[in-house]
Amino acid sequence: MTDRILQFLRDRREAGRDTGPCLVVDLDVVRENYRAFAKALPDTRVFYAVKANPAPEVLGLLARLGSCFDAASVVEIEQVLATGASPERISFGNTIKKERDIARAYALGVRLFAVDCEAEVEKIARAAPGSRVFCRILCDGSGAEWPLSRKFGCAAELAPRVLEHAHRLGLVAHGLSFHVGSQQPNPRMWDGALKAASAVFRDLSERGINLQMVNLGGGFPTKYTKDVPAVKTYGQTIFRALRKHFGNRIPETIIEPGRGMVGNAGIIEAEVILVSKKSDEDKMRWVYLDIGKFNGLAETTDEMIRYPIRTAFDGDRTEPCVLAGPTCDSVDVLYEKSPYPLPVSLEIGAKVLIEGTGAYTTTYSAVGFNGFPPLETHVI
Ligand SMILES: *Cc1c(COP(=O)(O)O)cnc(C)c1O
Repeated sequence: MTDRILQFLRDRREAGRDTGPCLVVDLDVVRENYRAFAKALPDTRVFYAVKANPAPEVLGLLARLGSCFDAASVVEIEQVLATGASPERISFGNTIKKERDIARAYALGVRLFAVDCEAEVEKIARAAPGSRVFCRILCDGSGAEWPLSRKFGCAAELAPRVLEHAHRLGLVAHGLSFHVGSQQPNPRMWDGALKAASAVFRDLSERGINLQMVNLGGGFPTKYTKDVPAVKTYGQTIFRALRKHFGNRIPETIIEPGRGMVGNAGIIEAEVILVSKKSDEDKMRWVYLDIGKFNGLAETTDEMIRYPIRTAFDGDRTEPCVLAGPTCDSVDVLYEKSPYPLPVSLEIGAKVLIEGTGAYTTTYSAVGFNGFPPLETHVI
């Protein structure tokens, strides 16, 4: 919560512009986060994961600070290039790409691509000849609050074959990547992935292919309702794991923070539309907000991300309530399995502040479901 954001919201209210929910992002916080990453992992290059928040002001600031970028589509690549950053600072990190999009990225100057199978390597060899590729491996992401399942990456045993195939087709077998799950509260989860990575490095070096780089992915948490370790602790723990598995031949490393870079820089102001009960016997209040799963809070799916919520009535007695969004879809309930404690004095029309919403909110907001507009955003 920053004074600049609170002041902005006060001005917006006084001007009568507070007609719908809005996200306010404070660039000062993004700048502090970038510096904290750079300090905690001094030999590691930062590739900001654009999908977390692609606001032009956020990308522009990070470009000026010297960040590189992890992009997942041609549009994200173009958003980065629009800041003036050169294409050498972009990694096309999605393992699932159309060949024509690879060709377009190549034409725009991008030369670094993610793969996780031989078929993807072949597309890159045809559409982006001579480029550098890194192979994403599966790893244990347990403990992550927003886990990434098995959709991306191959078993580490397969990686040497994938990268050897790349090498044979004239690509540069550059390295490996993994992602330990988003909002990963345990810095020791990088250890197992780095162990697997070091085995692939050894295997390939025996075949005459010397990998250069390990992409440590994202996963760095932001603070929601629970405390999380500082980024410094992640840096130290990851560095120890690198030493342990690579000895004095530590490869080049990169990180791809998304949530950890912008999560705590944003606050959503929303409004209570309705407070009601389902029956006389039912003690549980239902609180309906003008924001829900379809206009910004998609990460409440399965109640995985639990946002801190502030109200003007904080300090009053609280009672748990079911918190729901405004649309006519019954999936649009934010917290019900674990009801959310809110002040009993909370009334219809009251404003609530939803903290830690700088990442994965605007990009997850539907275009017009039930006529609700995409999430209004201000970057200050
Ligand atoms: C989404 C994504 C990230 C960012 O993850 P966070 O947990 O938000 O830091 C990093 N790398 C890749 C490949 C991603 O898809």
